[in-house]
Amino acid sequence: MAPLSSSAQGRGHGPQQGGARVGSVTQEHTNKSGFETRAIHAGYEPDEMTGAVIPPIYATSTYKQDGVGGLRGGYEYSRSANPTRTALEGALAAVEEGERGFAFASGLAAEDTLIRALTRPGDHAVIPDDAYGGTYRLFDKVEKAWGLEHSPAAVSDVDAVRAAVRPGTTKLVWVETPTNPMLNIADIEALAAVAHDAGALLVVDNTFASPYLQQPLTLGADIVVHSTTKYVGGHSDVVGGALVVRDLEVADRLAFHQNSMGAVPGPFDCFLTHRGLKTLGVRMDRHCDNAEKVVDFLTGHGKVTQVVYPGLKEHPGHTVAAKQMKRFGGMVSFRVEGGVDAALEVCARAEVFTLGESLGGVESLIEHPGRMTHASVAGTDLEVPADLIRLSVGIETADDLIADLDRALGTVG
Ligand SMILES: *Cc1c(COP(=O)(O)O)cnc(C)c1O
Repeated sequence: MAPLSSSAQGRGHGPQQGGARVGSVTQEHTNKSGFETRAIHAGYEPDEMTGAVIPPIYATSTYKQDGVGGLRGGYEYSRSANPTRTALEGALAAVEEGERGFAFASGLAAEDTLIRALTRPGDHAVIPDDAYGGTYRLFDKVEKAWGLEHSPAAVSDVDAVRAAVRPGTTKLVWVETPTNPMLNIADIEALAAVAHDAGALLVVDNTFASPYLQQPLTLGADIVVHSTTKYVGGHSDVVGGALVVRDLEVADRLAFHQNSMGAVPGPFDCFLTHRGLKTLGVRMDRHCDNAEKVVDFLTGHGKVTQVVYPGLKEHPGHTVAAKQMKRFGGMVSFRVEGGVDAALEVCARAEVFTLGESLGGVESLIEHPGRMTHASVAGTDLEVPADLIRLSVGIETADDLIADLDRALGTVG
């Protein structure tokens, strides 16, 4: 176990008290509350001095000490801890029902910190065979050079994941659910058992579901990963990442590495992410409402050959998704008649759906995975169908979204 600085990285939800009174009584109270109450109140109490209802943006790199080592509330230097970040980290822990949360400069920064905190050269990880491209690249091009081996397996196939595990050597079983862009579903409870039988930790990238729809720690997962760039931030205005854990020993290792590796977000990024998190519940319900309406429309459209959505009974992961998710999310993929040209044309003609990568913002996005997010996996096992279109269904007026798709599809062929 790595040594810890006793000051800013102690146990509990980061630094205690201090001017901002972060992570204190409110945390305990809100942990027993409903999701939206936790999202809005956990991690912060109105500032003692001013009563500021929202965590101030503490644009400071260092903190005055009352005599050598006399830290106020544990704050020493803003790489180690900053009150705006502490507030966000407390809220992230509360919405995922974890013990501690950690914020990072990006989703990939969170992932790299997790991997290097919890593995050593010579260890092994099982990863999704349809992992997010950046995650795959991190394992394949960065962590492998550092000595970490990895094996891909289909997250929807528990036996395949079990077969890929090397007992004693596998330290991480890493899944996403739903996956991108085919929205495959991993059975979190079953995979937690597979990982734990082998002495490994189960890591769940919960970016596509969001903590509102799915809480992997309550299903047996050990670590939750987020690209908070997506649904948590929710407004396409900030890049960020997060880790949430339930075990305090794991938390200590992550805290040590967060400080040692230094891939932390600045206070303004933390403010934006925290502001987004507060409305996650209402946004996700609207994302789901709109996605369901879009799915209904697409399912009945003559030029659509397949609709991929975990809420559809014919989706192979439907039963598992229904068991572990509150609703089925805002991501929808579909295939069109006419092959790649038709798919590209639909993407080009859509107007309310903005052509672009990323997902999870209030605005609807459309993209062609084969030429955009998944272009780098063409010709490999990860290749996606050329006639596939991916939607991140936003929270605009549903009728406008459907009219836009109708118009874009009407021009095909
Ligand atoms: C975007 C994304 C990431 C990477 O996060 P960044 O914030 O872009 O670094 C990881 N996993 C999933 C599922 C993502 O969608």
